[in-house]
Amino acid sequence: MDFFYYFCGVQEQILGFENNEFFLKLFLSNACTIQNFSLSLHYQTKTDNNMELTLTYIKKAFIKYNAMYFNNELKTPLFELFKSKTTLGQFCVQNAHYARFGGVPTIKIRISNYYNREERDIDNTIIHEMIHQWIHQNGIKDNSSHGKYWLSVARRINKDGWDIQPKSTTHYEVKNTNKEYCIFSFIDPANRRFICRVNPKKKQWFVNAFKFNNFTNIVQFTSKNSSKFDCFVNCQSSLRGKYINQKQWEDYCMGERVEVLK
Ligand SMILES: [Zn+2]
Repeated sequence: MDFFYYFCGVQEQILGFENNEFFLKLFLSNACTIQNFSLSLHYQTKTDNNMELTLTYIKKAFIKYNAMYFNNELKTPLFELFKSKTTLGQFCVQNAHYARFGGVPTIKIRISNYYNREERDIDNTIIHEMIHQWIHQNGIKDNSSHGKYWLSVARRINKDGWDIQPKSTTHYEVKNTNKEYCIFSFIDPANRRFICRVNPKKKQWFVNAFKFNNFTNIVQFTSKNSSKFDCFVNCQSSLRGKYINQKQWEDYCMGERVEVLK
C-alpha cells in the first residue's frame, strides 16, 4: 500500500496524521500567496492505472464474469480493441440478417483503449456490454438500449460493488505514450525524502515554495517512464506525492538525467 498525501486548497479541516507538521509548515509559509490554503491528508491504495489493455485481458474478464453473473450462459463473442474517445465499450451484432437464412451473425464486444483506466473500471465496461449481450442472446425486448430490463440487470450486479451505468461520467486521462513527467524530490526538515510529480508550467512556483520551506537536496528530472510515474498525481497548486527511502529513490532515478537544484 502506498500512501499518498496532498494539499488541498478548499477544505477547512486539518486531518490528524503523523506528518502533519511537515505539511503545516508549507501551508503556513505559503499562506500569503494562496488564500484559504489549508491542509488535508488523504491516503489510498493506488492500483496501476497504466495497465496495458489486451484482448487476453478482456477475454479472461469475460470468462470470469460470465460465471459470476450470467450462469456461464453467454456465448464467447469476438473481442476487439478500438480507439474511441466517446465510447468506452460496444456490443455489436454484425450481419444480423444471416439469422434469417439459418446463418450465425457475428457478435462482438469492443473495448476502447483510448484512456488510461484502472482494471476495475475496464471490467465495469466489460460487464456493461455483457448485459447487452445477455439481452440480445435471449431475445429480450427492452424499451430502449439501456431500458428497464438492462437497468434491472445492472442494479443486480451493482449490488456486488460495481458501478454499471448507461453512461460513464468519469473523466479519464488519455493514454499517451509520449507523455513527459516532471518529477521533483527533496529532503524535508525532518530528514525524509519526498517525491512528487508537478505540472511543468508550475515548476518554478514549486521550486520557490520548496526553497522557502528550507527543503534541501532538491532534485528534478523529466521522465518518459509511464510505468514508474503514471501513478503520480500531476500537481498544480497543491502538492501530492510520497515519502521514499534511499533505495526507492535510486530506483526512481535509474536511467534518468537528474538535475540538482542549487
Ligand atoms: Zn450500453
